[in-house]
Amino acid sequence: MLVTSKAILEASLRAHKEGRPFAVGAYNVNNMEQMQGIITAAQETKSPVIVQVSRGALKYAQDKYLINIINAAVELAPEIPVAIHLDHGNSMDAIKRAIDLGFTSVMIDGSLMEDSKTPSDFEYNVKITSEVVKYAHDRGVSVEGELGTLGGIEDGVGSGKTQLTDPDQAVEFVERTGVDALAISIGTSHGAYKFKGEPKIAFAIIEKTRQLLPDTYLVSHGSSSVPEEHLALINQYGGRMEAAKGVPLEALKKAIQYGINKINVDTDIRLAATGAVRKFLAENPEAFDPRAYLKASRAAIADEIKKRMEAFGTAGQAAAVPQWGLEEMKTAYKRN
Ligand SMILES: [Zn+2]
Repeated sequence: MLVTSKAILEASLRAHKEGRPFAVGAYNVNNMEQMQGIITAAQETKSPVIVQVSRGALKYAQDKYLINIINAAVELAPEIPVAIHLDHGNSMDAIKRAIDLGFTSVMIDGSLMEDSKTPSDFEYNVKITSEVVKYAHDRGVSVEGELGTLGGIEDGVGSGKTQLTDPDQAVEFVERTGVDALAISIGTSHGAYKFKGEPKIAFAIIEKTRQLLPDTYLVSHGSSSVPEEHLALINQYGGRMEAAKGVPLEALKKAIQYGINKINVDTDIRLAATGAVRKFLAENPEAFDPRAYLKASRAAIADEIKKRMEAFGTAGQAAAVPQWGLEEMKTAYKRN
């Protein structure tokens, strides 16, 4: 069932308010096997899911391929609430294109200028985010903004500099823009190489922001765990990845307790897929059918995502999601 991300995140927010918090993972999709792995995990755990498309994905696969692959999953899994989300939209044109294609949710990353590398100022962020909110809400589409900048670089997104979110400024930002969801910078970072030592998550910032903004959905980007077993598997079968540290699942669980509703995961899917393909090809040197090793990657992706759906508490929550599609939200936004 196709829904807006507001529908899925509202289920998470209600659960937080009732003292049994869970968060929803947003998983990046670049090809058919990733989409199949994601939807299989959602079906096997009865989880709602946000599927997100980055600019890198659009460049790799073209938007028409991606939207049709995602829509096929929606059609084949009618019992699973699925939101189609644009990750790190950087311009009004990108937003319009995504909405025309049928995305039900968009992110406008106004923390960076349109080149997606230069940090922006607060007023630019407010202006572009407000414009996107007006355009998207008129069409029933929910909007995620970002305040503060994340370290790390992935798919060419990011300045590499970290600036943690100021909770008081977050209140002003949400009031002036009307965003549904807000990505906050809490010390996480994009990519596989996040931390030199132990990761430090600013739980106090989550707690304060949650207190000040009880009705805004809070998002954690750059939240892959970079599991050691995947790095080991990749290196065991001919890879050469340096030691890397992500955000441990335990830290993410704690972040959920403090108020996070949406957790973005991309790198972990890549690592799981690569480890499985390397292992398969090393063990089957005579194999030359792409279906054989892509099947291995698809299964590894599904396993990896299932672990997250269970850890984030999303498992079993599919039925808790209100059926808010674009039409319902168009009316609801108009009323406000
Ligand atoms: Zn991100």
